[in-house]
Amino acid sequence: MRLVVIGAGMASGRMLEQLFEAGFAGEVTLFNGEPRGNYNRLMLSPVLSGEKTYEQIITHDDAWYAAHGVVCRFGEHVTKIDRERKVVTSRGGETPYDALVIATGSAPFIIPVVGKELPGVCTYRDLEDTNAMIAASKPGAKAVVVGGGLLGLEAAAGMAARGAEVTVIHLMGHLMERQLDPSAGYLLQKDLERRGIRIHCKGATKAILGSDRVEAVLLEDGTVYDADLVCMAVGIRPESRIATDAHLEVGRGVVVNDQMQTSDPAIYALGECIEHNKQLFGLVAPLYDQAKVLAATLMGAEAAFKPVQTATKLKVTGVDLFSAGDFADAPGREDIVFRDPGRGVYKRLVLEGENLVGAVMYGDTADGSWFFDKIKTGEDVSAIRETLIFGPAFQGGAQADPLAAVAALPPEAEICGCNGVCKGKIMEAVSGGANTLDTVRVQTKASASCGTCTGLVEKVMALTLGDSFTANANPPICKCTDHTHEDVRRLIKAQGLKSIPAVMQDLGWKTVGGCASCRPALNYYLLSDWPQDYIDDRQSRFVNERNHANIQKDGTYSVVPRMWGGVTTSAELRAIADAADRYAVPMIKVTGGQRIDLLGVKKEDLPAIWADFNDAGMVSGHAYAKGLRTVKTCVGKEFCRFGTQDSTGLGIKLEKLLWGSWTPAKVKLGVSGCPRNCAEATCKDIGVVCVDSGYQISVAGAAGMDVKETELLCTVPTEEEAMEVIAAFVQLYRENARYLHRIYKWVAKVGLDWCKAQIADPVTRRDLHDRFMQSQSVYQTDPWADLAQRPADWAPIADLTLRAAE
Ligand SMILES: Cc1cc2nc3c(=O)[nH]c(=O)nc-3n(C[C@H](O)[C@H](O)[C@H](O)COP(=O)(O)OP(=O)(O)OC[C@H]3O[C@@H](n4cnc5c(N)ncnc54)[C@H](O)[C@@H]3O)c2cc1C
Ligand code: SF4
Repeated sequence: MRLVVIGAGMASGRMLEQLFEAGFAGEVTLFNGEPRGNYNRLMLSPVLSGEKTYEQIITHDDAWYAAHGVVCRFGEHVTKIDRERKVVTSRGGETPYDALVIATGSAPFIIPVVGKELPGVCTYRDLEDTNAMIAASKPGAKAVVVGGGLLGLEAAAGMAARGAEVTVIHLMGHLMERQLDPSAGYLLQKDLERRGIRIHCKGATKAILGSDRVEAVLLEDGTVYDADLVCMAVGIRPESRIATDAHLEVGRGVVVNDQMQTSDPAIYALGECIEHNKQLFGLVAPLYDQAKVLAATLMGAEAAFKPVQTATKLKVTGVDLFSAGDFADAPGREDIVFRDPGRGVYKRLVLEGENLVGAVMYGDTADGSWFFDKIKTGEDVSAIRETLIFGPAFQGGAQADPLAAVAALPPEAEICGCNGVCKGKIMEAVSGGANTLDTVRVQTKASASCGTCTGLVEKVMALTLGDSFTANANPPICKCTDHTHEDVRRLIKAQGLKSIPAVMQDLGWKTVGGCASCRPALNYYLLSDWPQDYIDDRQSRFVNERNHANIQKDGTYSVVPRMWGGVTTSAELRAIADAADRYAVPMIKVTGGQRIDLLGVKKEDLPAIWADFNDAGMVSGHAYAKGLRTVKTCVGKEFCRFGTQDSTGLGIKLEKLLWGSWTPAKVKLGVSGCPRNCAEATCKDIGVVCVDSGYQISVAGAAGMDVKETELLCTVPTEEEAMEVIAAFVQLYRENARYLHRIYKWVAKVGLDWCKAQIADPVTRRDLHDRFMQSQSVYQTDPWADLAQRPADWAPIADLTLRAAE
C-alpha cells in the first residue's frame, strides 16, 4: 500500500509509531509544511523559557524515519488533492497514494486588527514562532501577549524567564476562563504578577501600532503598551483548507467517522484538523486515541474512536494548576471549596447529585488524578462527601501519607493524560523490569509528552518497587535538596532566582544554609547565569578560591603568577627570584602548564607577595581556580621551521581573553603551531592545532585521572574566528555543565554533535560569545590586586568546612 501522510505533527507521528509497531509493510511518504519532522510541540514552552533545547524535544529523528523507510518531504506543503486520480500535488510534483491521511493540525487565529501584518507580530504554534520570541526576549525588551489562555500564558512566562518585560492582554475577566473559575484565575494572576508579568484583563485590542515594525498595542479603552514583539495567542482553527478544496465534507474541521475516515473512503484524517460528532480537539490526549484507531483501521483491524474527558495543566515551572470536567454554575450543582491563603492553595469540587463533575485546583494539585478518575468513572461519591476535598489520604480514616493518594487509585486510573497511560500499565512495566523513569517512559510513554505527571509516575514506581525504588538515576545535589544539579540550573533560570537564599527558599532547601556540596555549586550557577546581578559569595567557595592560593599539605600555599601563553621576560624572572628570596620560598618549580610555581609560601605572606608581583606587572595565575588555568603554547612559526601559524601569539591572546572566567571546573588550553603538537594541545580541555589552512579546534581532552584525546569541534580559517569559537564554546560549557564536571565529562553527556551544532550556528555562536564577553566585563579582575591593596581587610577564612568537598 502507498500511504501518503500530509502533516508530520504529533497526531500523525503517533499514528506512524503505532502502524510500524503493528508491522505495516507499505510505503510511507510524509509531507510537512515545517522544514523538519515530528517534535513534541507541547514542549515548545520549555524551549521558549530556556529549560529545554529543540534537540531535546525531537520525537522522530532522521535515523528513525530512515529505519522505517519513510520518504520524508519536509518543508513541502501539499497544495492539492486530486481524488479522481489519487495523487497529491506539492512543490516537488505529484505523488500517488492508495490511502491518504490528512493531519494538518490547526492554524492560529489572528484577530483582524490594523497592524496585524507588521513585522514583530507572531503567533505561537511552531519552532519558528518560538525562535522569534527567543530572539526578541532580550533583557529589557518589551513583549505583549494577546490572549490569557494556556498558550498565551506559557508564551508570556517563557519570554519573562528570558528577561523580557511582558504584558498579557486578555479579553475576559480572569485568566484561562475556559479552564479556571475566577478564584483560581485570581491566584494564577497573582503568581504571574509576582514574576513581573503585567496582566490586563477585560482588555480588547484595537490596533497594533508601528511604521516599519511593531511599536505598541492600542486597546479599546485607550491604553497603549509599548511592544518590540506582539504574540497573538487567541485561539486556533482546524487547518482544513486542503480538504475543503478537494470537496471533502468539512464543517468546522474535516468531518470523520469513528474510524477516522473522511467522506472519501480512501482518505482519513486525524488530529486538530478534524471534526468528530461536531466536536473539535485542541489537546493531545484524544489525538493519541485517534492515532491508535487510525493505525488499527489502516491495518484492517476493528477500532472506533470515542472521545474521553481531558484535564488541563499549565506548563509554567512553579505554577501548580489543574482543571478537569465541568465547573460552570448550573441548577442542582453544589460546590465544595477549600482555601489555604497562607500557602496559596485553592480547591473547588463541583458535585451534581452523587457525582463529581468538575475539579479546579491551584497551588496543590497532588490529588488531581484521583479527582479526575472520579469524574471520568461517574462513581457515587456521596458516602465520602464530607472528606472528599481532602483527597484520598483522608478517606476511610487513613493517615496522611504521600503515597496514599496514588495507592488509592484503581489500576485503570489515568496517570499520564497526554498519552492515556493508566496506573496498571505502569505497574505492569515496572513489574516486568522497567525500574528507571527513562525505561518506564520508553515502554509506556507515561510522562513522555508534557511531563507534568512525572511525579505521579514516580509514585506509582515507588509503590510497585518498594524500597528498591530510586527516584532518579541522577541523584540530588546533596542531602539538603531533592533537586539534581540539572533541575537547579534549569529552575534558577526559569524562576529568575538570583541569590542563594532565594534558591534555597523557592526550591525548598531542607537545611538552613546548605552544605559544602551545594553552596559552591549554587554560587557558581548564580555567577554564571546572572553575571550582572549576582554578587559572588566568597563564603560559598572552596578554600583555595577563598584564599586565592593553593593550600599545600603542610598548610603553606603555592603561588603561581600568570605568564601569558607561557612566555616570560627577564624582568618577570627577576621579580620571581626576588620574591622567592624575600619570602624564603623553599621550592621554585616549573609546572606542567609552563608556569613558575613558588611553593611553601606562608599564609601571612600571601598579600605581600601578591603586591610585589602586582608591582612587577603580574597577576594571579588562578592556579587554584575553577576557571581558566593555563594556555600552553609552542614557539610556532616565528621560530620553528615547521610552524604554520603564530601559535604563541594566539595562546597569549586566548589567555588574555579567557582569564578570570569562572567555569564549572578548571579549564586548560594548548596551542600547537603544527600537527607535531609540541604543546600537547590534543589532551587539553580545548586544543588548537594550527595548520596551513587555519586552526583546528578540538575539545574534551583529558590527561589526569582519565586520559583522553580531544575531538574535533571545527576548523576555522582565521585567528579572529578561532577566538570567537573558543569564547562561545567556553560560554556553552559555563551555561550548561554541572558544577565540577570537566569539559570532557560534560561533552560526553550532552554529545559532541550538539556542541558542534550550537557553534556552527552563527547566531547562537555570536550570542554565546557576547554573553561570555558580558560576563568577563564583570568578572575579569585580578583577585590578588584587590586583596593586596587592602591587606588589612584580608583574613584567610578560618571556617574550612568547604574544604572537605574539594
Ligand atoms: C506551544 C504549545 C503548547 C501546547 N501545550 C499543550 C499541552 O500542554 N497539552 C496538550 O494536550 N496540548 C498542548 N498543545 C496542543 C498540541 O500541541 C496539539 O494538540 C497537537 O500538536 C496537534 O497535533 P496535530 O498532529 O493535529 O497537529 P500539529 O502537531 O500542529 O502538526 C500539523 C503539521 O502539519 C503541517 N501541515 C499543515 N498543512 C500542511 C500541508 N498542506 N502540507 C504539509 N504539511 C502541512 C504543519 O506544518 C504541522 O507541522 C500545545 C500546542 C502548542 C503550540
Ligand atoms: S608544534 Fe610544530 S610548530 Fe610548534 S614547536 Fe612543535 S614542530 Fe614547531
